[in-house]
Amino acid sequence: MKWRGKAIGGSFGSIFGPTGALIGAAAGHYLVDRKGRVSKKDRERILVLTAGALHQITQANNRFTHLTDQAFRGILEQANTALDNVMSHYDLLYLIAQSTHIPGCLGKLAPAVRPYPELSRAAATWFWRIAACDAPPSPAALNMLERFGHSAGLTPEQILQASLLYYRGAFAIAQSNGEREKACALLGVAYNAGNDEIKQAFRRMSLKYHPDKHTGLDPDIRKLTAERFSQIKDAYELLQNRSDDGGEWFAHSCQAPHIVRAAPGMPVSCYICRTPQHLPQAADMISEAHCPLCQALLVFEKPLAEHLLAQQTGGF
Ligand SMILES: [Zn+2]
Repeated sequence: MKWRGKAIGGSFGSIFGPTGALIGAAAGHYLVDRKGRVSKKDRERILVLTAGALHQITQANNRFTHLTDQAFRGILEQANTALDNVMSHYDLLYLIAQSTHIPGCLGKLAPAVRPYPELSRAAATWFWRIAACDAPPSPAALNMLERFGHSAGLTPEQILQASLLYYRGAFAIAQSNGEREKACALLGVAYNAGNDEIKQAFRRMSLKYHPDKHTGLDPDIRKLTAERFSQIKDAYELLQNRSDDGGEWFAHSCQAPHIVRAAPGMPVSCYICRTPQHLPQAADMISEAHCPLCQALLVFEKPLAEHLLAQQTGGF
């Protein structure tokens, strides 16, 4: 099994179980604390802070395009639904107009949603969506999203889950947390080693541990060196940071409830909102194609596609 698969496999676990709640459609019921139903005032406060937080993220991205505006409105409508329609349509429009004037919201929102794990996860999804709605998030925005996730009580895996359908770089981030560290240690290079350095280290280690070099040795030692060699190979593969599938992409077919191999110009439907649409005609545009309605990425990398397929059909 490839390292990337290992790093991701098992970590989506429930992403498409509670996604209904995550995307806001079936929410509301999880807003209950020990004392009972969360008050209207508290729900209003969470919605207002969410609006301000969305702005804070677009500021960290340093751009506000028509896609940002569209995402902004869509997310606030979802959030309002998730908060049991705490605001009327007109109040919501007023909030959208005023939300630029509410400072420091992410820091206040995190402790406010923390007692409600599903809401924390939903909020993380909304923020990834706005951050990646027109282009990859800026480093400042990524940093903000990470910090929000931690303060809102999410695990690193949950933070990853929230990002997967919106941001292609999520895989790289998952690797850079921990997996990359382990791989570098195995190859005996520094965490920030460049490609050439990694390649040289791999060659050096392969010469040392390659099974062909140890044919005359004791079988137990041969077994150990073979194990070591396979670890080194896995580590090298991970650090290469290349797509294992040679640029193959998968998408949700609009004809059948299936994940299929994606091709330029192909009709597909959005995995989240099911809106039918066509993939771009240019092959190199496919990987960044987003749903115009909910901004989710339209094509998946192989490990995610395999996971989704396994969920649909009970396995390959
Ligand atoms: Zn969509």
